[in-house]
Amino acid sequence: MPSNRRAFLAATTAAFTTTPAVSAAAAPHRDADPGPPLRPLPHPPALPHPHPHPHPTTAREALAALLAGNRRYAAGHPRHPHEGRTRRHVLAAEQHPFAVVVGCVDSRVPPELVFDQGLGDLLCIRTAGQVLDEAVLGSIQYGVEVLHIPLVLVLGHERCGAVAATLAYLRDGTPVPGHLRLLVDEIAPAAWRTRAMPGDWAEHTVRAHAAWVRDAIRADPAFSSATVAAARFDLDTGRVGLLP
Ligand SMILES: [Zn+2]
Repeated sequence: MPSNRRAFLAATTAAFTTTPAVSAAAAPHRDADPGPPLRPLPHPPALPHPHPHPHPTTAREALAALLAGNRRYAAGHPRHPHEGRTRRHVLAAEQHPFAVVVGCVDSRVPPELVFDQGLGDLLCIRTAGQVLDEAVLGSIQYGVEVLHIPLVLVLGHERCGAVAATLAYLRDGTPVPGHLRLLVDEIAPAAWRTRAMPGDWAEHTVRAHAAWVRDAIRADPAFSSATVAAARFDLDTGRVGLLP
């Protein structure tokens, strides 16, 4: 059972078991007319812990938590943690996400689901093809410097539409209208570098581009306090694999 549902049931049960106890204690006159025998009250359930799952504080712990969550997701056994009302109330005053995820806007790759995390766990920044611009860099800096997040994970994925559009432009001259041009310009260097490699050009580009984004973030002194890694999400298996 998901922890938030468990917490809700525990809180609800506590509310219902408290009321009869107070009524019985405040009504001694019932001795004259005992009525139906009182049943013993069950032991009150433990109150939900505000942090039922250990909160990662280092980059190593953060990465381990992400990969463990992804294993649950890929296996079809997600916990959907940190989605309940209690969690929302705890987070209302402040947030302490443990990882920045720089990912693609692709609707099939939502980081909170892919990594089986919940409210307040991840600071997600998503652009098509996870390309960088000043808004993205400023958002990463907010996470690293202001929120002291120890890990930045760049997440590319299989069959990325932004990569496909880039390859179509480079290979066939397929027009790139309007604002899409920025995406192609950012992904094209990775595509050129992998053009001569045997095998799937799109797949090579996905990996090379994610690694390039990772290296660009690593090289920026604004993020020197964080560990920066890159990974690829497999649409077919649901698994996330770290890139070398
Ligand atoms: Zn994509």
